[in-house]
Amino acid sequence: MRIILLGPPGAGKGTQAKRIEEEFGIPQLATGDILRLAIREGTEWGKKAEPFVREGQLVPDEVVIGVVKERLSRDDVRRGFILDGFPRTLRQAEALEEILKGLHIAIDAVLYFDIPAEELVRRLSARRVCENCQTPYNLISSPPRSDEVCDRCGGKLVQRPDDTPEVIRKRLAVYEEQTRPLVEFYARKGLLVTVPASGSIEETYARVKEMLAKKLHGNG
Ligand code: AMP
Repeated sequence: MRIILLGPPGAGKGTQAKRIEEEFGIPQLATGDILRLAIREGTEWGKKAEPFVREGQLVPDEVVIGVVKERLSRDDVRRGFILDGFPRTLRQAEALEEILKGLHIAIDAVLYFDIPAEELVRRLSARRVCENCQTPYNLISSPPRSDEVCDRCGGKLVQRPDDTPEVIRKRLAVYEEQTRPLVEFYARKGLLVTVPASGSIEETYARVKEMLAKKLHGNG
């Protein structure tokens, strides 16, 4: 199963990707996580990406495409993968098609997480993430069992520096301008599956599974 999770920041892509990864045993490829790790480690890619991530802008296409190309060449994606946060521009979508063509594989479905903008600001402001394993939490809707500590690995929960109100507004504007056109792009290819994403994690995951089953078994 090879799927793309598409939708604005705060729609729940990362949370749902982790659930799909656990249940179906296919890895989540989150470009945001990969870039944050590269920034922490101070690699060449990290140095290029840092100012863009800090400002809530998109990292230049060639950097992100390079990251994804390298990641898709590894063995653990042979059985499938979940692309989370990539592609985010038409150029990235076109580059992805080229990469996949070279590997003789194709995307099975693009899950589009549909959610109103007001809900996104509320969610992003309450978001925390484990600085060690990147598991996402929300202080209102999915708090950790114990304050500020990750349930999975005991790592410290932190607020992402780009989850401040000013940068959140910027990221939502960037999404509208640069990423939203991909909804139409994948709809035209017959790959788009719309998932209403304003409900709870469980409600959204139930819809994800139902829609994946339909799409992958040819009834949708
Ligand atoms: P995310 O964790 O998906 O919200 O991504 C955090 C930040 O990483 C974004 O605001 C961008 O600066 C950068 N980023 C992640 N994925 C991409 C992408 N596909 N293209 C460009 N920039 C990206």
